[in-house]
Amino acid sequence: LVGREFKHEDSVIDVGGVPVGGDGLVVMAGPCAVESREQLLESAEAVKAGGAQFLRGGAYKPRTSPYSFQGLEEKGLEMLAEAREKTGLKIVTEVVDIQSVPVVCAYADVVQVGARNMQNFQLLKAVGKAGKPVLLKRGIAATINEWLNAAEYVMNEGNYSVIMCERGIRTFENFTRNTLDLSAVAAVKSVSHLPVIVDPSHGTGVWKLVRPMSRAAVAAGADGLMIEVHPNPAEALSDGKQSLTPENFAGLMREVAGIANLM
Ligand code: PEP
Ligand code: MN
Repeated sequence: LVGREFKHEDSVIDVGGVPVGGDGLVVMAGPCAVESREQLLESAEAVKAGGAQFLRGGAYKPRTSPYSFQGLEEKGLEMLAEAREKTGLKIVTEVVDIQSVPVVCAYADVVQVGARNMQNFQLLKAVGKAGKPVLLKRGIAATINEWLNAAEYVMNEGNYSVIMCERGIRTFENFTRNTLDLSAVAAVKSVSHLPVIVDPSHGTGVWKLVRPMSRAAVAAGADGLMIEVHPNPAEALSDGKQSLTPENFAGLMREVAGIANLM
């Protein structure tokens, strides 16, 4: 189902009137985690002003340490819904387990399956059955074929609205948090009709690298970007080092618009 043998032309996923894939460039931006109502609304206004179509923000966070901030859960989802009402932005947020699929789907426009869950096959089947558009991140150590098979699991349940997201893979390199594999954009698009977006925030882990890699992603043919933006990155409860200030995000948006226009 993921292959171009099944469907030759590029898929365009309609998210409540916002197309993902096809000619335009879609930008999903916002904080790593929903931390408070003020932090989220400020982030939403900033990414809206920059020109994003989606607000991202995790309410359920898959953290490496159990002592790190785990997310506001349903309270965070309520804040995301409020931000959508205030700004008109679409909401993308992560679901980390099968039990919370219904509640996340009740609030989100797109449900995100994170890198750590890319091969959680039961979760893939559950989001497939739920029917909401799915943003499927590439696993930390997943090959392109394993990633495509994960999408196949979702589509096999009858849900064809899958957006692929390259977010870097683990290699020997440790200057960056992950190694952003931009060749994956061209590779997936060569064999699959699904839209592919790029997350240079998790892909590099370093805010200074996010703008250049965003430019490169758009030049490589990505259908969109996922960018972490925080009103005050130094105080972020998660991923501050890779988060852009609103000013930096506005600069990124001007740069990528210029590149998208050249293509
Ligand atoms: C995220 O987008 O907040 C996230 C946890 O990303 P990943 O699953 O790519 O690590
Ligand atoms: Mn993050």
